[in-house]
Amino acid sequence: MLENICIVLVNTTHPGNIGGVARAMKNMGLSDLCLVAPKLFPHEDAVARASRADDLLDNALVVETLDEALADCHLVVGTSARSRTIPWPLVNPRELSAIVAPLPADTKVAILFGREDRGLTNDELQRCHHHVHIPVNEDFSSLNIAAAVQVITYELRMAVVEGQDSVDKPQWGTDWDVELADNRELELMFEHLEQTLIDVEFLDPDKPRNLMPRLRRLLLRSVPDKVEVNVLRGMLTAIQKKQQP
Ligand code: SAH
Repeated sequence: MLENICIVLVNTTHPGNIGGVARAMKNMGLSDLCLVAPKLFPHEDAVARASRADDLLDNALVVETLDEALADCHLVVGTSARSRTIPWPLVNPRELSAIVAPLPADTKVAILFGREDRGLTNDELQRCHHHVHIPVNEDFSSLNIAAAVQVITYELRMAVVEGQDSVDKPQWGTDWDVELADNRELELMFEHLEQTLIDVEFLDPDKPRNLMPRLRRLLLRSVPDKVEVNVLRGMLTAIQKKQQP
């Protein structure tokens, strides 16, 4: 399970932090690091802070967009140092581990970490199935990014090493018959949904309010599989066809 967890760092400013994250990951037995548009990378500060985890830096996938980072991920989790406008299913690291540990072995999980100065944007957070917050002193709630990675990956490791018996069933039951939809499929579904709602004039693109974030939250909460996504998109296509004169 630890091999299927990708740590995704979005727009990290300080290369030293990237090294610190690599070290924290390797200590906990994770190796899959993805960097979305890092400010400075590769960099000697990253190598220095990585200590002997520089192999993770060598193998890190560097991409320009979050779409590329998440395309083949089934479950996306966003980390947040503070609460945001629209509440999302929020868990602490131990609860996250209890969700992730029982997933089928081939489920690819991405955990997103934000910029040092302002975290993840609302758009980025709204791509996630869950948000995870490390409960810290609420008067001083922002951890260094490598420290946040350390705490979360420690709990994931504990769930694997210690927890085989205490691991619950996946939230949607026992064996599932169909593979979960990946992020590329989910994002295409949301685009299709948005366009159809505009076509039928339910969504006003000039006044979108919070309709799409709320629909995203609703649908992501059900962790849809590939067939379910196809059925929803088939319905949308049928609605669009009826709209055409
Ligand atoms: N000022 C920013 C804090 C960014 S800290 C903000 O208010 O959002 C950099 C990153 O470290 C965050 O994006 C998150 O990925 C992680 N992080 C820091 N503190 C955290 C916490 N208490 N819980 C979960 N992640 C945290």
